[in-house]
Parts: sequence; C-alpha cells; structure tokens
Amino acid sequence: MTERAAEPDENVHTDQPAETTEQEDGLRPSAGFNTRAIHAGQSFEPLTGAVVPPVHLSTTYAPESVGQLRRGYDYGRGTNPTRDSLQDQLAALEGGVDGGALAYTFGSGLAAENALIHAVAAPGAHIVMGNDVYGGTYRLIDKVLGPWGIGHTVVDMADVSAVEKALAETKAAILWLETPSNPMMKISDIAALAETAHAAGALLVVDNTFATPYLQLPLERGADVVVHSTTKYIGGHSDVIGGAVVVQDPELAEKVKFQQFAAGAVNGPLDGYLTTRGLKTLGVRMDRHNANASTIAQWLLDRPGVERVLYPGLPDHPGHELASRQMRGYGGMVSVQFTGGATAARKVAETTRLFQLAESLGGVESLMNYPAAMTHASVAGTELAVPDNLVRLSVGIEDVADLIDDLDRAISAV
Ligand code: PLP
Repeated sequence: MTERAAEPDENVHTDQPAETTEQEDGLRPSAGFNTRAIHAGQSFEPLTGAVVPPVHLSTTYAPESVGQLRRGYDYGRGTNPTRDSLQDQLAALEGGVDGGALAYTFGSGLAAENALIHAVAAPGAHIVMGNDVYGGTYRLIDKVLGPWGIGHTVVDMADVSAVEKALAETKAAILWLETPSNPMMKISDIAALAETAHAAGALLVVDNTFATPYLQLPLERGADVVVHSTTKYIGGHSDVIGGAVVVQDPELAEKVKFQQFAAGAVNGPLDGYLTTRGLKTLGVRMDRHNANASTIAQWLLDRPGVERVLYPGLPDHPGHELASRQMRGYGGMVSVQFTGGATAARKVAETTRLFQLAESLGGVESLMNYPAAMTHASVAGTELAVPDNLVRLSVGIEDVADLIDDLDRAISAV
C-alpha cells in the first residue's frame, strides 16, 4: 500500500495491527474467529453510518494539494479502501488470536503466488515443492518462472530426509507445500517442515486454500507465508476469482506490497467486496462442509466399486493423527478412487446431478471433478500426475441426505 497521511482517521485501515485493546473496528484482540470474520476491517462508514462499508470504485483520489494526500489514498493500483477492508479482514483471521499478520490480495490465486515468488526469489533461485501441489502452481513454477531462471525440485513432503537433501543441494529460497493437498488429500507437518526449511535458510510457504484459516493457522505453526486461492472457500460462492498472500514479517510484507503495487495484479473493488462478503460466513460454512464431508466419506467406505476414500477425517487415513493435531476439522474435500478405473470414475463424475461437474471447489454448492483430465491435466505424465480412477468431491452445504442420494444413484449406475 502507499504511504498514508499522518493524521489518524477512523475510516482508514492501516497496515499496522492496532496496539490498543480495542481496535478501530470495535474488536478486542481476543475476539473469536467468527467475530473477527464479520468485523475486522469492516468499520461503519462515518458519513452515513452505513454498517456495510461502501464499495470504492474510484480509481483515483483528489489530494489536498500537490504531494499532500487527503486520507493516504492516491491511485487504486496502490491502495483502495475496499481492498484494504478485505486485506485487514483476512489478516485478522490468518494471524490467529495473536494477530500481527498482513494480507495482500490479488486478481487470482496464481497471481498471488506469482507476486510472492517475484517478491522473494530472483533468477537463479530454487523452489522445493511437494509432489502433489495444485497443477496450476506447478505449471506457473515450471512453465512461466522456469524460463526466467527459477529452478524447482519436486519431493514427497512426508519424506523429511528427501526434503532436507533437496533444500541443501539446491540452496532453495522456498519450500512450498499444500496441506491437505489437492486432490490426494495428503497431510504435511507444517511445524516440522518450518523447522526444516528454516534450518536450510529457506522460507516455508503454505497454500492454505483447502483448510482455510478456520481450520488451520500455518503462520502460528512457523510458516513464513500463507497463500490462498480466495476463489475457493474464502469467497465461498463460486462467483469471484481472487488470491491472497499473508505474512507476519514486516520486511517480507514490504516486498509483497511492492510487487502488488509495482506489478499490479490486484483484485478489483467489486471482486474484493464479494470476497469480503463471503469471508464473513467462512466459519459457519466450514462447520457444515466438515460435517457433510465426514458423513459422505464414511458412507463411501462401504460402497461396492469404491477402492479407496481419501479424507483426513477417516481414522485409517495416513495423515489422520497429524490432521487432528494441526487442524480443527478435516474440511469439505473428499477424493475417491474406483475399482472400475478411469471409465468408472468418469462415469460417476458425469452422472451426478447435485454434484455438478466443474473445475473449482469450495463453494456452497457441491462440485465433482475428474482431476486427471480437468484441474490436473497440466501435470499429466509428470511425477505430480493424478490417478485416472480418482474423482474429487467438493462437498457443499446442501442437505447431506440429498447429496448421498445423488452419489448413490451415480455409483450404482457404474
Ligand atoms: N491453490 C490451490 C490449492 C488451488 O486449488 C488453486 C485453484 O484451483 C489455486 C491455488 C490457484 O488459484 P486461482 O484459480 O484462484 O488462480
């Protein structure tokens, strides 16, 4: 964000977390998750008293005089009050009860990732990443940043000695992980990998898109950076694309802020507003996503034709114990593998009705994805390739009996 005017103003969101016991938005630092989600960054508009802050569409702001900004705002690529509201709201959630996080939002999850990598890595730098990161993340690092001189090594995050070796051999700047991962639902130990990364002089970046800050707080566990596709659970209604980078270290924050301003991949005000509106209900939505997904994962276990159910809430999931420690719920994503191979998986994906066949995830409506030919087509033939007998369910918040009925009909038809 750009420099702000010196005088404090109750409608201007500052970069710095408030040091007072009660912040400008009326929040005590100890406020619970849902209270922060609804109030952080959302102080009422002082002219009219509107409880929902207006959407600021203006691209530019009239200064008092040359060089003397009125309220710290001058041009929308650098700062915009609606974007600030979202950034403050998200920072208040990812920072946990101790606060102190700073968030920067972008036009998409990949734009956020790209800005972060430009902020912390230069040509010649290396990234070590999990062997099951989102296909688009891999494509960005491999196909876009590779030709610009950023190298990468792919490892299994469960194999700590392989991670240590890769970090040491490549002198990597970044260790990048996703937990739970998309779509294999692997769980990685954030605290342990933060130590491993730091011992090797690397930053730990955690893609928290699947878990959201409601279920998991990577910064509290030692991660340096959280990235999000806010397109997913944070927006929550499949109607807005966006991304975010959240950090705790002010120096790192400056670098990300500079990228946001200088490279300009910002989200627009209307997108920011929709994301803020979605984020207010994240907690209640996630409770319901968790409950529905747990019920469905259990139900799937006994279905004929189902080979494997990947859901960290199931006691026999290899990451169950770890997920129980580092998450406060297992999330709304469930992957299923079928004994009938690719044909059966595709048939199920094309037969359900309430579970709509689509690329995305994290909305209130249930979605079904066939990753091998959809979200993860870009990693086909690589070590990140997804089994072709797998479908990924984004379990929505509909009535679970209806969702089970929909799945039952599709699976029985195979
Ligand atoms: N990270 C994860 C885990 C994702 O699933 C996605 C998109 O599916 C992204 C990042 C990229 O986000 P976006 O599509 O908003 O650019």
